[in-house]
This record gives sequence, structure tokens and C-alpha cells, in this order.
Amino acid sequence: MRPARVIVDLAALRHNYRVAKQCHGGKVFAVIKANAYGHGAVACAKALGAEADAFAVACIEEALELRAAGIQQPILLLEGVFEANELVLVNRHQLWIAVATPEQVAMIECTPVAAPLHVWLKVDSGMHRLGITPSEAADVAKRLQATGKLASLVWMTHFARADEPDEIATQHQTECFDQAMLGQSAAASLSNSAGILAHPRAHREWGRAGIMLYGSSPFAERSAAELGLRPVMRFLSKLISVRDLPAGEAIGYGGTFVTDKPMRVGVVACGYADGYPRHASTGTPVSINGRLSRVIGRVSMDMLAVDLTDLPDATVGSTVELWGEHIPVDAVAKRAGTISYELLCNVKRAAFEWQDGDTPQQAS
Ligand SMILES: *Cc1c(COP(=O)(O)O)cnc(C)c1O
Repeated sequence: MRPARVIVDLAALRHNYRVAKQCHGGKVFAVIKANAYGHGAVACAKALGAEADAFAVACIEEALELRAAGIQQPILLLEGVFEANELVLVNRHQLWIAVATPEQVAMIECTPVAAPLHVWLKVDSGMHRLGITPSEAADVAKRLQATGKLASLVWMTHFARADEPDEIATQHQTECFDQAMLGQSAAASLSNSAGILAHPRAHREWGRAGIMLYGSSPFAERSAAELGLRPVMRFLSKLISVRDLPAGEAIGYGGTFVTDKPMRVGVVACGYADGYPRHASTGTPVSINGRLSRVIGRVSMDMLAVDLTDLPDATVGSTVELWGEHIPVDAVAKRAGTISYELLCNVKRAAFEWQDGDTPQQAS
């Protein structure tokens, strides 16, 4: 059997949620879109269950999966509905919706609803992705209220650069949002993980914690450990081959790595088809039986090579941690020229196991 597997530490997830809550001070969404950033949305929602103020997902399919699994907390659709007929399901399953485009405003105006809607009015304060233009936001809020179809209205916006040490862009977005909201008494939600951790002025009533829940840092210059976060996903596989090679031998596709001395080389059953990044360059850290090693040569579809020269105890069957406890996912992401978000979402073909404390919960 293929030895690639993922162990999700649900106690660590809860710990990280508590860090988010404590840092923010108000209510905090647990953002579990994209299958909880690859960690299993239902398992994560159940583990956070009693503590989470609410959950946030990207689309109605993700929300319905949670409802089908018995999750009863509020669930926000961060991008709202894409078609008016989804409003029937929004009502039936008591979902909260973002309203971020003029089309979505029109859908609410034109569609009869069975029960009043909980609407999160998204304002574009500078990211220029989704959101109502700031100068039109108050008007849109008035129009929405005038439909008589709202149970509540909360204002929100999203930061483009809250992870950067230079705070000016986030300050500008916050000021723009405050300006748009002038005279409104509604609650507000501005901050993603980076905002929660670095921008107290933008905390307001609701935060939206994503990546920090999974024990990864949104900042390039501050590690997750420094932020008090614990890794949640351990991505593991095993050595399936070990051999000695003389100096001057090229390893893997393209021969990008050549042994500069006699070396012991291991092959790990994990490649880019499992979600390990193909762009992880020679030197990307891995941990073998708890000891540090490195990727050598190109990552292939099902395998990658590691340097065992200083690890004489490593043998076929030794456990390899691609990321998790010993290897921060952020370190791998950096070497691969990407962010942890992408790596975590991409893991596939591995057997998942969810642990809470020492007890394995489920396996699939
Ligand atoms: C994904 C998402 C978040 C969470 O962002 P992180 O950087 O993972 O904390 C918050 N708000 C919105 C609108 C999102 O789409």
C-alpha cells in the first residue's frame, strides 16, 4: 500500500482557534473553505464545534456538506450566492451570505425569500477583487434594508496586504472602509489571519481566521511557532529505496543534482501527484525518523529523492515527514516559491487520519 498519509491534529486546530480568539478579542469565524485548507472540513468543524462562533466557506456546496454532517453553527458564504435560486437553500439551511456585487443585490431585490436573510455587505476598500464600491455602499445598504428581507446586516471588507510589514496599504483600506461606513451602526468584519495578528485597529466585531487555524504563519518574516501556533497537518510517507552512489552521478529528471562525493540517497513515495510541490528545490528540508535531511534533484510525480549521507540509520520503511511537526509547511512553501495555503490545499492521494489528543478519530 502506498505509504503517503496525512495526520490532522484536531487539538492543535482548537489551540490555534483559541489563539485567534484571544488575539482578536471579539467573535471569530473559523474559515474552513476548500475542505478546511485541505484538512477535512467536516472533521475540523466538528472538532471546533462547541467553541467556534461561526464558520466561513467559499460556496454553497461547502456549506451543504457541513449541514449534512450535522454542523449547526452559523455558516457564512464568503462569496455569497452565484445564482438567485441558491437563496432557497440559503433559507432552508440558515446560511449567512456575503453580498459583494450589484448582481447579488439585484438577486435579493427580485427573489421572494421564505425567511429574512443574514447579509454581510462586502465593500471593496482597495483589493479590487469583490466588493461594492465604497461610495455606493451606503446606498446599497439602504436598498437592501428597503427590501424588508434582511434579518441582519454586517459590513465587511478584505485586506490585500495585511501580511506585509509595511502597514500603509492596510491602513488605507481600513480608512477607506471606515469612511464608507460613516454614520452606520452596523457591526463589521475586516481581518483575515494577518489582520487579526498584526492590525488591532482593524479587529472590530468579527475576525475571519483561516491560515492561522492550520498552524501556518501569514507573514514571511515571522514563524508560526513565534506566533504561538501549532502545526495541524503532518504529511508523511516512507522511504521505498536506499542506495549508495559514487561522486559525479546525476539524480532524477534533468540531472539537476549531481553527487559531489559518495552519497547515500533515499527515494520517498511522495511526489507532485500527492501534492508535494514540484518546484521544491534541492535543499528543501524533510525529516527522516525525526532527523533533518533535504530533497535532492527534481521532484517527480510519485517520488522524490533525499540525501541520507548523514543518516546511516535511515532504511527502507523509515518514516519521512514532508511537513508537520519537524518541518514547518512554511519552510517548504518558501523553497517552492509559493505559500502554505497552496501546499495544504493540494495534498491528495494520501490516507487521512484525524487525531484528537492521542486518539485516532477516523481514517479513510
Ligand atoms: C480565505 C478568506 C479569509 C481567511 O484568510 P486567511 O489569510 O487564511 O486568514 C478571510 N476572509 C475572506 C473573505 C477569505 O476569502
